[in-house]
Amino acid sequence: MLLTISTDHRPATDLGYLLHKNPSAHHRAELGFGRAHVVYPEASNERCTAAVVVDVDPVGLVRRRAPRGHDFSLGQYVNDRPYATSSFMSVALGKVFSTAMAGRSKERPELVEQAIALEVSLPVTPCRGGEDVAHRLFEPLGYEVTAQAIPLDPRFPQWGDSQYVDLTLTATVTLKGLLEHLVVLLPVLDDDKHYWVGPDEIDKLLRRGGDWLSRHPERELITRRYLRHDRRLTREALGRLMEEDLEDPDEAETRYDAREHAVERPIHLNERRLEAVLRAVRASGARRVLDLGCGEGKLIGELLRVRGIEQVVGVDVSSRMLDVAAQRLHLDTMAPSQRARVDLLHGSLTYRDARLVGFDAAAVAEVIEHLDPSRLGSFERAVFAHARPSTVIVTTPNIEYNVRFESLPAGALRHRDHRFEWTRAELANWCAQITTRHGYTVALSGIGPEDATVGPPTQMAVFSR
Ligand code: SAH
Repeated sequence: MLLTISTDHRPATDLGYLLHKNPSAHHRAELGFGRAHVVYPEASNERCTAAVVVDVDPVGLVRRRAPRGHDFSLGQYVNDRPYATSSFMSVALGKVFSTAMAGRSKERPELVEQAIALEVSLPVTPCRGGEDVAHRLFEPLGYEVTAQAIPLDPRFPQWGDSQYVDLTLTATVTLKGLLEHLVVLLPVLDDDKHYWVGPDEIDKLLRRGGDWLSRHPERELITRRYLRHDRRLTREALGRLMEEDLEDPDEAETRYDAREHAVERPIHLNERRLEAVLRAVRASGARRVLDLGCGEGKLIGELLRVRGIEQVVGVDVSSRMLDVAAQRLHLDTMAPSQRARVDLLHGSLTYRDARLVGFDAAAVAEVIEHLDPSRLGSFERAVFAHARPSTVIVTTPNIEYNVRFESLPAGALRHRDHRFEWTRAELANWCAQITTRHGYTVALSGIGPEDATVGPPTQMAVFSR
């Protein structure tokens, strides 16, 4: 079985330093089930590829596993394990690149933290549930995914596709991050771990996935498959995963938002956004205001300071964020007259919700880009057709401006959970559809320093009816 990692980061041979494997040598490692080789089919200044080849010894595997050989089924001897990139590859990567995964590089320590353009090719990967699963697992982590189902037999197309895909992943990531993603997600794709899974697997999962798994929209699937569908272990792992968040939600959220904040902080975009939305709410003269996707409740705090506003209702899909908001706003110690003005509701903006009907204005600040594009229609109906506040204020990043953020890798979105970021034309187009379909008018403007070519960093649409 074969996996290659390539880069055209310059000098491309930096890959050798990052992997701790000299491109001019052939490296071997003995594994319990066979042998791994690392070789470099290409290693120039422009492009470098490391290939990991794993030779699985299927007969040895059976002998070791069942010394008295009670099970003589053919499946033990004739199976895909020598050829398909499965949990064996995951174990091999953990072994041959252990130093790289620990995030160490003696010669080039500064490289370790650097996100570089990487491409991984896995020509034969078992993917239970079809290509869609590969997209769902890797795209939220920022990968561009090409997954091509491999036909059972190209001579007989009517037989359909096999359970294998030819998978290519590209992203600008740290090599350590990439290896962690692969080590966790390859056995998840395969959904057929070759070894016994015990409680220590939870530690392994949390060690490798600690940084990203708790925020991954498919964390349940990942945990369940990684732990071989063992319900008790899965429950415990998810508990521990989320507990870390619950223990200190502020810290977790800080990590979650770190990139967005680091990128946007120099131009005080958060503050400016808050001011702009607040100004738009005030200008609308609203008395009853919704904050949809309220997050930690910063806007709610500001709205409560506005005299003319009688009621503020924050809505979020994350109950954890609502807890943070309740704490930040000190709801439990608020004076009763003040407390009566505010409510926090748990709900999703992609479902109609009778509790959201009858408001004068709704703020939807930096939320739509967290919705799957396929859910935007449901969001539109829930907000503009069903809740129908007189004013709806939407803010979202202007992707054109991203080239002006020096700390943002080219092509990257500002936040790991963003499903998309729009150009000015894309937002205008979406708004135009809403105005015709739901009888609103819209005014578009920018938030933050306006650049002559790429426009403002944040765009704002104020809908009125
Ligand atoms: N409005 C806040 C938070 C923006 S972050 C601000 O401007 O700072 C996006 C928020 O939207 C998160 O708190 C997330 O939990 C919430 N969110 C994402 N999808 C949602 C959905 N379908 N329904 C409700 N809230 C959602």
